[in-house]
Amino acid sequence: RFIALEGGEGAGKSTQARLLADALRARGIDAVVTREPGGTPGAEAIRKLLLEGAPGDGGAGWNPRAEALLFAAARSDHVEQLIRPAMARGAWVVCDRFLDSSRAYQGGGGGLSDADILTLHAIGSRGFLPDLTLLIEVAPAIAAERLALRDTDGTDRIGGRDTAYHERVAKAFSTFADNEPHRFARVDGNGTPDETHARVLAALAPLLGP
Ligand code: C5P
Repeated sequence: RFIALEGGEGAGKSTQARLLADALRARGIDAVVTREPGGTPGAEAIRKLLLEGAPGDGGAGWNPRAEALLFAAARSDHVEQLIRPAMARGAWVVCDRFLDSSRAYQGGGGGLSDADILTLHAIGSRGFLPDLTLLIEVAPAIAAERLALRDTDGTDRIGGRDTAYHERVAKAFSTFADNEPHRFARVDGNGTPDETHARVLAALAPLLGP
């Protein structure tokens, strides 16, 4: 099985990915936790390029199309080198962000069409999709508090994005979850990590069985 965790910055995705993998292992399931962009040496190298911005860009960042291509390239390496092989040996893969982050950020935020993002995904990753995508939803004020606690120097963020950008991202995620209920489960992420983890397990109950 392939489970993606999605949501804005400060939603608690990384913590939930770890807690979920631990819970799966406790049930005797081989679980792999990974993240996007990243997860393989090649994709981590592309992540570094994305976070640093285009060399010599003066802080402007990659243009939106180059950014979308880099995310698609990172995902391609990740899917082909890590995710498909792990699933082929019977493991569950828990991924911190996947395609829907590109649809929300490079699409909703950056202005590319959803069709273009899906085309890049079709080319790069042969349209590979999670069995279930958990959208972790958190009130903006709570996400901001968590980021303030976590961020030391902002080098794990793509900079130069305003509040309006992040509002478009949140709206895009919400629209996908509304329009594609067969692929998404919404999870309230406003509580403690343990509370959210219980909600994650409840959302996965149909896949986990008794
Ligand atoms: O998931 P994480 O917060 O580590 O992502 C690192 C950076 O990449 C963040 O600034 C996030 O907004 C950005 N990102 C993005 N588009 C994606 C995935 C992540 O802009 N598809």
